[in-house]
Amino acid sequence: MALRVALNQVLRRSKPQSIALRAFASTADVPKPAPVMDVPQRILMGPGPSNSHPRALAAMAMPMLGHMHPPFLKIMDEISDYLRYLFQTDSKYTCAISGSGHMAMEAAIANVLEPGEKILVGDNGIWGARVCDLADRYGLEVVALKKPAGETYSLAELEAAVKEHKPQGLFLCQGESSAGTMQQIEGVGAITKANDCFLIVDTVCTLGGVPFKADAWDVDVVYSGGQKALSAPPGASPFMMNERAMQKLQSRKTKVATYNCDLKLIGDYWGWYGGRSYHHTGPISNFYSLREALAITCEEGLEPLWARHQAMFELLWKGLGEIGLEPYVKDPKSRLPCVNTITVPEGVDGPALSAFAMQKYNLEIAGGLGPTVGKVWRIGVMGYNAHPMNVNLVVTAFKEGLEAQGYKK
Ligand SMILES: *Cc1c(COP(=O)(O)O)cnc(C)c1O
Repeated sequence: MALRVALNQVLRRSKPQSIALRAFASTADVPKPAPVMDVPQRILMGPGPSNSHPRALAAMAMPMLGHMHPPFLKIMDEISDYLRYLFQTDSKYTCAISGSGHMAMEAAIANVLEPGEKILVGDNGIWGARVCDLADRYGLEVVALKKPAGETYSLAELEAAVKEHKPQGLFLCQGESSAGTMQQIEGVGAITKANDCFLIVDTVCTLGGVPFKADAWDVDVVYSGGQKALSAPPGASPFMMNERAMQKLQSRKTKVATYNCDLKLIGDYWGWYGGRSYHHTGPISNFYSLREALAITCEEGLEPLWARHQAMFELLWKGLGEIGLEPYVKDPKSRLPCVNTITVPEGVDGPALSAFAMQKYNLEIAGGLGPTVGKVWRIGVMGYNAHPMNVNLVVTAFKEGLEAQGYKK
């Protein structure tokens, strides 16, 4: 009775369009799940997530620790150290953002620039488009430097745009995984630095797969993701900012508009300023797992990693070329080794081929995303998965899948 009176009051006040209420669910309504979760073993050769390294997965089962316990803080410090090597930086300010790549993207946009400042965004695929949206939400003035998906920016184009628009920030995505392009970053930092502009780079699908050198290339802010070339599960995302970016953050006149991504506060949890204070409970098991994945990655070493990704990229295209498939990205220098876009030939049913690969081999061959929907397949060759066993299976699946459709090259 009391419930009905309260409910009537609420309805009168708020006049909702409809109301869904199950106040008295009976035990008969409780769903009865199967005794065991159905999780098939799949080979994830799309743009991500990639298969996690078994050691990274096993790390998730380690005992829980408190988020401020010294053994856990030591694990966070190890993550920071490994990231200094992977990002090639001496910066004190490395950490893992709690969340997916998008969360780290948001941290990169929300902290260094202030409302009213201008950001120039390389917009040649879905990630640039999302950064435009994000930056707009944080009150930045957004200038989208548009190019068709499949193309990249030359240093001359970037320099001209920076000089014309005089932005406080320039965003570029190193590996545009919706289009399959690799943007040259080396050389851009000299342009932004000389023009009082911060360089912000997305390396979500490239860190650990292709060369990246934060300090040598004067990159001010960079973020990545766990589940692509680093072979960890999604949920903790590498991040770095340099001293120049930190000074800009510290001299802000306005508060960072997001509590969750405020790097003044997050940095204090990661020990950037000498102390340690609670901002949020870190995803403990994800951090164990990222720590382990980074250890494995660093054990192999950057040069061998880059060489292995390059070799698997070449092996993939040798096989695809032999069956008559072509890269979507015209300029060979702009092709991204980590996420490859393959043009769907005239008359071929792209989704049917992906379904064939999944059905026969439990193998993921992804379709396009954003501007490439319906035009391409996407094949990720990243981290633990960048192995001839997987690459050759992809080629086999394409060959058989095309034959099943009666395609002749
Ligand atoms: C996958 C990806 C992201 C997004 O990462 P999530 O973990 O899905 O949030 C961002 N940028 C690039 C280049 C990516 O490939």
